[in-house]
Amino acid sequence: MNTQEVIELFNQYVIGNYGRLPKVIVKGEGNIMSDLEGRQILDLFPGWAVSGIGHCHPKVVQAIQKQAAELIHMDNTFYTLPQGQLAKMLSERSFGGKCFFCNSGAEANEGAMKLARKYTAKGKYKFITTERSFHGRTFAAVTATGQPKYHDGFLPLVPGFEYIPFNDIDALTTAFSDEVAAVLIEPIQGEGGIHPATAEFLHTIRNLCDESGALMILDEVQTGMGRTGQWFAYQHFDVTPDILTLAKALGGGTAIGAMIAKPEIAAALTPGTHASTFGGNPLACAAGIATIQAIEEERLLENARTMGQYIQQKLAELKKNHSIIDSVRGIGLMIGLQLNGPGASIVSKCLDKGLRINCTQETVLRVMPSMTITADLIDRAVSILDQVLTEEGL
Ligand SMILES: *Cc1c(COP(=O)(O)O)cnc(C)c1O
Repeated sequence: MNTQEVIELFNQYVIGNYGRLPKVIVKGEGNIMSDLEGRQILDLFPGWAVSGIGHCHPKVVQAIQKQAAELIHMDNTFYTLPQGQLAKMLSERSFGGKCFFCNSGAEANEGAMKLARKYTAKGKYKFITTERSFHGRTFAAVTATGQPKYHDGFLPLVPGFEYIPFNDIDALTTAFSDEVAAVLIEPIQGEGGIHPATAEFLHTIRNLCDESGALMILDEVQTGMGRTGQWFAYQHFDVTPDILTLAKALGGGTAIGAMIAKPEIAAALTPGTHASTFGGNPLACAAGIATIQAIEEERLLENARTMGQYIQQKLAELKKNHSIIDSVRGIGLMIGLQLNGPGASIVSKCLDKGLRINCTQETVLRVMPSMTITADLIDRAVSILDQVLTEEGL
């Protein structure tokens, strides 16, 4: 089959709910992916942050192959080794909580919100979330998502949600009441355009929750697992959530989500109250364990910090010659390039030259390289972007 034939296959048999770029990707290795015609593409947005340690990391591949030959799936009627081991590893690297495993970010957030209602109980039911946030596409997760464009056509949504502007402490204080079960936010808004929270905003959420008995839920589906140079982004802010949600980079490319809750809160989920058939399956958990091991053995948190600084500085230098660039923001390898105009055509021109980046919120170029990125590859990427901006006269 050639590219056109694959596209026709999709047109006929796959629901068209994604705007796809006209390329068929058949292979991924580290920071490079290859299309059906054998063209190589430098991937600075691998798997929408799922391939956080690059495509097909050898340690993850090996762990999956080994686990697949032993036990691919076992239901939660029984105990399994990888699930318990991964839970311990996550707990030790965060705040000593207990884990519930599922298969995606939306599901992790659903679990967190259900736990918050179950735990806080009497009279508490409201969720405060932020404008421009992104929490997933299932009904409660999309309701939590503070962007009307994702609600269009799906009304009525789940009751009990209130939205406040991100980093707006006055609005937060005003919205807060004894009816609030939880505040759910991303420490750095990802899909919303790479906007880091202020420490003051996070600390105010923490204090208000502590005073009223509400829970602080941090959605680290995109920021978690080392991308920002710490295991979890909240570790930059000297604040601890009650519940943390993860997915994307957690499984080295496999489908896995997790919610980590403080033990006394986690205790509210007694047998039968919540579940996921595939949740915590041995294959995905073995991949998760290998991912954490690779990050530690290869010192990738440090690499995320140094390469994050390097690429942010390189991108900021582009500002001198390209007036379309307004500013560069982000933490570690989670970077947004704020433009003064639309970015979609820049993304497709870069792809034509063998570089993959992303555009979100129309005017933000989103660059989220894997934690294995090198200075050489960053130089190559920045020079392609420079060339595209020059050619477009931007
Ligand atoms: C991607 C994302 C989600 C949704 O994850 P899915 O696996 O697509 O359900 C939730 N929250 C954040 C912050 C995300 O970036």
